[in-house]
Amino acid sequence: MNEAVLSVSDLQTHLHTDDGIVRAVDGLSFEVDRNETVCLVGESGSGKTMACNTITGMVGPPAEINGEVRFDGQDLLGLSESELTSVRGNRIAYLFQNAQNALDPVYTIGDQIAEAITFHQDTSSEQARERAVELLATVGLSRPAERVDEYPHELSDGMCQRVAIAIALAAEPDLLIADEPVSALDVMIQGRIIDLLDDLREKREFSLVLVTHDLRVVASLADRIVVLYGGTDVERGAATDVLQTPAHPYSQDLFESFTGDGESEDSLASRDPIPPQGCRFHRECRHAVDDCRASKPPFAAVDGNESHRAACVYYGTERDPGELLFNARHVGAAFDSADEPPGQTAETDGGDRDE
Ligand code: SF4
Repeated sequence: MNEAVLSVSDLQTHLHTDDGIVRAVDGLSFEVDRNETVCLVGESGSGKTMACNTITGMVGPPAEINGEVRFDGQDLLGLSESELTSVRGNRIAYLFQNAQNALDPVYTIGDQIAEAITFHQDTSSEQARERAVELLATVGLSRPAERVDEYPHELSDGMCQRVAIAIALAAEPDLLIADEPVSALDVMIQGRIIDLLDDLREKREFSLVLVTHDLRVVASLADRIVVLYGGTDVERGAATDVLQTPAHPYSQDLFESFTGDGESEDSLASRDPIPPQGCRFHRECRHAVDDCRASKPPFAAVDGNESHRAACVYYGTERDPGELLFNARHVGAAFDSADEPPGQTAETDGGDRDE
């Protein structure tokens, strides 16, 4: 049986603003097993990034944080800042959306990778530099021994994202959290970075939490999917199950609105900082019934599949889920074929030559 390296239970991140309490994350639960890729899917405002920032301790007071985040059995929310620092960047690494912004323009990329190495490991500056060259080669940057002395502005966006991946891997983490790692890149480069992440995850045996709204990325990388709406999870399951049979009406609308170019047509994410009683999707849901407004629906197995669960009154009750499942199969048919990652071509070699 696989062991969870990350376990998030009923996570809440509430922000006190002049307009009231914003429930940015509100009851999110999911697990990540060793060596697997879990995709957090949802639109802007669904709570994906705030959840990852909370998990890694990048959000603190005055935000009100509750729930439990266990990493390798250790409760991260109970750690002091210094204890958290030794975990973050060492055993948990974070990859940001825009690598150009994440890199420091006044230091060479070699210096920045070496700093990440020496921060967490007892090693000399010469050894750190050698290791930086090795890491640049590992992430597919050509001429690594020369490039190690270049500055971020001398590199393309794709190359900078490779450097950011090298920094993230410097301490050989057990868990990499990647927040929209390709959305700022040209579509032709996206596939190469996705391939690189997948390849590195398999070879280096870390777990990957991937935040994305791009279903092409999800289809090519995910082992499991967690769909978020209004700061909480509404569906979770194996990637093939969720993609082929999206069971929650929000998942179905999200997948149906996907245009194939990495975006969804209209925003479905809840902008309401104060979610409604009951199912928080009920105002937009075309299948809503009176029960949906009464109380938050619990998770239940979809079509008898205990590992595929949705928080909707149509599952686990006497209500007939047939209508939703019929719709699910129609929506999911688009993902039945082997989806290629964005920008993927047969000639793609994974290197940086065209970046
Ligand atoms: S619980 Fe009701 S409102 Fe919520 S998704 Fe299901 S049918 Fe729609």
